[in-house]
Amino acid sequence: MVQLQRPSHVFMSGRLLPWDEATVHVSSESLIRAASVFEGVKGYWDAGDDVFSLLAVRAHYDRLASSARLLHLPFEMSFDEFQDALAQLVRKLLVPGRDLWLRPTLLAVEGHWGLDTLTDLVVTGYTLPQERPEPIDIGVSRWQRAGDLAQPARLKSSANYQVGRLARIEGRGRGFQEMLLLNPAGRIGEATGACVLVVRGGTVITPPPTEGCLESITVDIIERLCRRLAIPFVRRPLDCTEVFLADEVFLAGTLAELVPVRRLEDHTFGAETPVTGALADAFWSVVRGTSTHPEIELSAVPLESPAVSGLVRT
Ligand code: PMP
Repeated sequence: MVQLQRPSHVFMSGRLLPWDEATVHVSSESLIRAASVFEGVKGYWDAGDDVFSLLAVRAHYDRLASSARLLHLPFEMSFDEFQDALAQLVRKLLVPGRDLWLRPTLLAVEGHWGLDTLTDLVVTGYTLPQERPEPIDIGVSRWQRAGDLAQPARLKSSANYQVGRLARIEGRGRGFQEMLLLNPAGRIGEATGACVLVVRGGTVITPPPTEGCLESITVDIIERLCRRLAIPFVRRPLDCTEVFLADEVFLAGTLAELVPVRRLEDHTFGAETPVTGALADAFWSVVRGTSTHPEIELSAVPLESPAVSGLVRT
């Protein structure tokens, strides 16, 4: 569980700080009005070449900048400075043989109802084992995604995760590992931390962000993999019943990667998942560096630093 780790350092206020020193004031707008936006960036350790690479950093930077703009949170950092902040933390926390999940969060540390706002980019990072996701059981939550004018889902704000938290608590009580959030029209929005994709008659179908989901970077990657594998890919509204009727269902997200769904509520899907399997294999081989894709950006983090050279291999 990444959230339960207490890594040694955090990037904050332009430098690395020991975990216990990375604090914000109790009066900050990030705390009292949830004025913060964030990203989750995945980094992959490639044992063959001793290389550590971050996936789609530019896309994450761009989406963080868009979320910040929508919430009127100043974000002055250049892309190079952003990349450097992530690289500093990677060099501090990297354990050869493990992957990392980085969480850059832009916090409103000063300001009042959008006046005189000052922000700080904080990055936390957590190590992960190099394991492919196992199939999961999911439910349909009684909590819903709000409409675009209430709580825009395409914005990755911390406040958006309040409903996801409620849905996960509900799901845990019902024995589910993830929950689907419907939109106000009763169609599929997304899961609490991933997007929803189904396979019907050989076509991959996923709702567009106008249905109440994040503009997912992983879904964009899956679209490109579908093009390479000649699998039809469509973005269109998805009724809840279509998920029950689907041949295959899977979730996609940076942390989740590509997770097959075994059961939805009381419905168990067939064991044969050829499309999900082909896409998961293709995704795995690109992020692990065993194949490349011209449109999927993996950027190696420079590791030539004394902080890393002292690391012991696991
Ligand atoms: N929806 C939600 C609510 C998420 O938290 C995530 C994970 N960031 C996604 C969708 C998938 O987005 P991405 O592929 O960009 O990680």
